[in-house]
Amino acid sequence: MWSFFRKKKEYDCPICAAKGELLDTVDLNKHCEVSKRGALPRSGVAIEYYLCSDCRFCWAPMMHAWSVDEFEEKIYNQDYVYVDPEYIESRPRTNSEMLIANVPHASSIRHLDYGGGNGMLSKLLNEAGWQSSSYDPMVDHDVSIESLGKFDFITSFEVFEHVPDVHRLISDLDQLIADNGIIIFSTITSDEFITPGKKLNWWYAAPRNGHISLFSQNALRRLGHSKNFQFTSFSPALHVFFKSVPEWASHMIKIV
Ligand SMILES: [Zn+2]
Repeated sequence: MWSFFRKKKEYDCPICAAKGELLDTVDLNKHCEVSKRGALPRSGVAIEYYLCSDCRFCWAPMMHAWSVDEFEEKIYNQDYVYVDPEYIESRPRTNSEMLIANVPHASSIRHLDYGGGNGMLSKLLNEAGWQSSSYDPMVDHDVSIESLGKFDFITSFEVFEHVPDVHRLISDLDQLIADNGIIIFSTITSDEFITPGKKLNWWYAAPRNGHISLFSQNALRRLGHSKNFQFTSFSPALHVFFKSVPEWASHMIKIV
């Protein structure tokens, strides 16, 4: 009986520190490929997603508190490829083609793929004459980011929604980017899909894929501003952080 009177859990937004309110719970086994591959059996583990009352960042506090080992055991394990079949090759190949088409004279640009998993994107770019490296906090446990140096161009594809520590993410990016560098990253912004008081049934809110940080446009803007980045979006899925725009990227980023 007494649990009825227990104080409601509260979490402060990791981005803007405003109050987060429970939006909905999603079964741990919910994944992004349900429409193509069908649902997995329910795990019985309810993952709570909280929504910031101000910047509208939506996150799963319980999973934000997991250790790297827990993520490896429960999410990024041998079955992960079932829920994200494009992870191994198809997505890096598509992204490398997009980058090569948009940055034609890249041989003198130092590039880092942040959160690059197995390093496939960097491998493909290097084959095309780029100077590219890959770094993934979930994979390269023994690498300190101080040892990596600075980069003119950082990409981070399908990473932000997986990140349990948004402060570490933006600090890493700020440390790694050169003064005149740009960061292009993909994550689908939630503005059209998450509404306070409505059920969280967006396909992208998928704990089994490790999607534990869902950003509104405002949440991305404020995260960037915390390190003095300007923010703009090419689309609801592709975005840029920058402090100034280098000549080689001026055809892509127009500051209004
Ligand atoms: Zn917030």
